[in-house]
Amino acid sequence: MKLADNMAKIVVINIPGHGHVNPTLPVIAELNRRGHQVIYYNTEDFRAKIERTGAEFRPYPASTLSTMNDAELAQGSLIQVTQLIFRASVQLVPFMTAELQRELPDLVIYDSICLWGMLAARQLKLPTVASITTFVLEGAKGLMSWREYALILSNLLKRLPSFLGDRAKLVKSLGTENPLPSPIFPCTGDLNIVFTSKALQPESSFVNDSFEFVGTSIDLTTREDASSFPLDQVIEQRQHHPIIYISMGTINNNNNLDFYRQCFSTFADHRGLFVLSVGKKIDIASLGTIPQNFIVRQYVPQLKLLPHVDLFITHAGMNSLQESLYYGVPMVMIPQQLEQLANANVVARRGAGVTLGHVFNFGMVTSPQLLETVNRLINEPEFRAAAQEIAASLRESGGYLRAADRITELFSLTTELGKGQVITKQS
Ligand code: UDP
Repeated sequence: MKLADNMAKIVVINIPGHGHVNPTLPVIAELNRRGHQVIYYNTEDFRAKIERTGAEFRPYPASTLSTMNDAELAQGSLIQVTQLIFRASVQLVPFMTAELQRELPDLVIYDSICLWGMLAARQLKLPTVASITTFVLEGAKGLMSWREYALILSNLLKRLPSFLGDRAKLVKSLGTENPLPSPIFPCTGDLNIVFTSKALQPESSFVNDSFEFVGTSIDLTTREDASSFPLDQVIEQRQHHPIIYISMGTINNNNNLDFYRQCFSTFADHRGLFVLSVGKKIDIASLGTIPQNFIVRQYVPQLKLLPHVDLFITHAGMNSLQESLYYGVPMVMIPQQLEQLANANVVARRGAGVTLGHVFNFGMVTSPQLLETVNRLINEPEFRAAAQEIAASLRESGGYLRAADRITELFSLTTELGKGQVITKQS
């Protein structure tokens, strides 16, 4: 395809995780609408959602990511995830380097944990953009308690030999020409797009002028069709009852059967209407009797529903959290792993939610705790007020349009300077 001179050829390199892919989709759709050519690498599972944006999908070689899928990424500790990334990078750095050599894009966008993307792009000295779908935790102090840090440390110590072994294999495969940066994560670029607001991001010494905080990335056209969901019924019921939405995200939810049943027994006599998303791996019939005040679905049109709910019970995955805050909805947060705990801590400190069941015992809450917290958040307006204050900061940050603007500005600048120029200092 021959592109006009002012149009960029962009390669996007991502990991197979919905939370890392979703915020990029509105940006990619917008770049495509503006006439740029986008080629997007991921595993086959992501083909449909990527092609919906107008980007050209390219799969990784089938064998290379067999050990790394969404579930493993989510269930692993931060250390385990890093090891998976090291192992995948041994195979994918040479693959992506060859692809980039052939395509010679004007820009490369990679996720901030997609190490193979950063290493391949840096090897070829191409202009780079990092997509950061989490808070920037590097350099941020006081985000966790000493008990939480102790948990990370004990995990690291247990896995240290195999962690160092995987790291050494990767370093050896890269050769001396291509050492690992320090710190490795977040993988940064000439431009770093962060999908939260500057106001919500915890203070971090790592953040510099190359970081652009664009807020929540929302474009309903890039989402799955969910027209069968009874949204009108929810809107009508809200005149009489508080609406409470429950979702533990798209990944870990096969472990949550007990929690869903606990929600049934805790809230069966509650005056609220509860919408429960159980995830695509759970057969709804296996849940037993569903109370009358529950609507249960495998998948819910979350973005369409959130504007109409009073409270969100969530695992505090970064996307759910950003989306909830974007619509000014307070949260009861029940983190399932450490990154979600850090997310929840950020929100709880701003007064827009309450964290339950954390530290050494992810996801475990008692029914009285759950009931008491839900009632508190419904009845005390300060939580919603705090969420709405954050919503304003997320909306003012410009979203996917601002991200697309900054990416095209980087393209214009590199075109003026000539390819291969590094625009800002890479961390
Ligand atoms: N989601 C949705 N409907 C559902 C459950 C999830 O649309 O029933 C979307 C949600 O809007 C969010 C993503 O799936 O964009 C979940 O991402 P998050 O980072 O919150 O959690 P993960 O699934 O990665 O653990």
